[in-house]
Amino acid sequence: MIDRDRLASLRAAEEDRFARLHPSSAALAEQARGPLLAGVPMPWMTRWPGRFPLFFDSASGARLTDVDGVEYVDLCLGDTGAMTGHALPQVTDAIAGRASRGITTMLPSADAVWVGEELARRFGLPSWQLAMSATDANRFVLRFARHLTGRPRVAVMDWCYHGTVDETLAVLDGDRVVARPGALGPQVPVAETTAVVPFNDAEALDRRLAEGDVACLLMEPALTNIGIVLPEPGYLEAVREITRRHGVLLVNDETHTLCAGPGGATAAWGLDPDLVVVGKPIGGGIPCAAYGMTAEVADRLSGPMLGHEIDVAGVGGTLTGNALALAAIRATLSSCLRDEDFAVAVPLAERFTAGVAGVIAEHGLDWHVQRLGCRAEYWFCPPPRDGAAAAAAVDEDLEGFLHLWCLNRGVLLTPFHNMALFSPHHTEADVDRHTEVFGDAVAALTGH
Ligand code: PMP
Repeated sequence: MIDRDRLASLRAAEEDRFARLHPSSAALAEQARGPLLAGVPMPWMTRWPGRFPLFFDSASGARLTDVDGVEYVDLCLGDTGAMTGHALPQVTDAIAGRASRGITTMLPSADAVWVGEELARRFGLPSWQLAMSATDANRFVLRFARHLTGRPRVAVMDWCYHGTVDETLAVLDGDRVVARPGALGPQVPVAETTAVVPFNDAEALDRRLAEGDVACLLMEPALTNIGIVLPEPGYLEAVREITRRHGVLLVNDETHTLCAGPGGATAAWGLDPDLVVVGKPIGGGIPCAAYGMTAEVADRLSGPMLGHEIDVAGVGGTLTGNALALAAIRATLSSCLRDEDFAVAVPLAERFTAGVAGVIAEHGLDWHVQRLGCRAEYWFCPPPRDGAAAAAAVDEDLEGFLHLWCLNRGVLLTPFHNMALFSPHHTEADVDRHTEVFGDAVAALTGH
């Protein structure tokens, strides 16, 4: 359907435009090639469209400005890390205030109590711990689950993403569990650590868990890392019943699905997990994450948590739970990601979805756009049922072109997603700007 020659020549023109618009980023990128592996401080940053990465200067609310002074509507929001909007004054004040009074001491601060209570209120789980990142939180939870059940494997959904967690970088190849394409240097063959099941397939889950070797199922209530794949009616209820019947702990990773509301999909959909992981946006941009658990899990863990060797148990971290992170979480959760914030952000995501769906329909494309709360994403196929079907529709050339076209016209999308995230700081005009730019890109591609 897409004319690949036309796509290639449009992409080349956008590459030239990108280079013309960003001489200062180009100079920094050239300089960075020496001291930084791949010219960036973190490898994913090579995945932005354009011949070199854009260097950012400042960001505020829903706007970002690069080192060439070009301003963007930021629909990436740090791939969820800045879902609240950037540099909110109440959060930066709290961070500055805490920083001037000491950041890291290995002692709890008073904010920790407020944070634990607030997370308990939002997610309905009574007992919480901090981590530095959602990756870390997931690693700790997997370790706890193996400890509590005495079982060696963890189960995940095919084409999930839960951070740089060894056990989760696994996919299905037919019936076999294999390393996810691109995963570097697996510790051991992933089939030894991991069971993988397709999303939205309760029977496959039941069959796999019946083997009795799985400690926990770690899942997003909706897949958000291979486009957005929503659960079919009844699926999540079946997951809960099946995991419980097989004595498998259910862990909801709400790092992205927090877009569904103040207590993530867990609260929005009345789910009943044994543990929940939250990360990224809860600290307004300061690295931090948290995991919560039921009273029963907390009770079973309280023995080991107080043991003399907890410092070498494989759970925790020297900077984890530091006072800066806790002050940032308190400032963020007391002023952001509340019902009233979602009441502004969700209608913007609905407007985005309607705009993109209109363009798709106008051009008769077999693409779709999906939404979960204040997050929306388009994908180059009809709505898939599971991750493998979504993965089959990945089209890097098309995605790269659309991202670059939008970026060159002042709209930032999330790299390796076609995702737009909305904060209360976006406006309807921001959404309409994207719809216009996206519509022009698709018209240029289809030639009408
Ligand atoms: N869980 C989910 C669902 C994620 O999408 C991600 C990152 N995209 C993580 C965990 C890991 O977060 P981090 O990279 O901040 O550790």
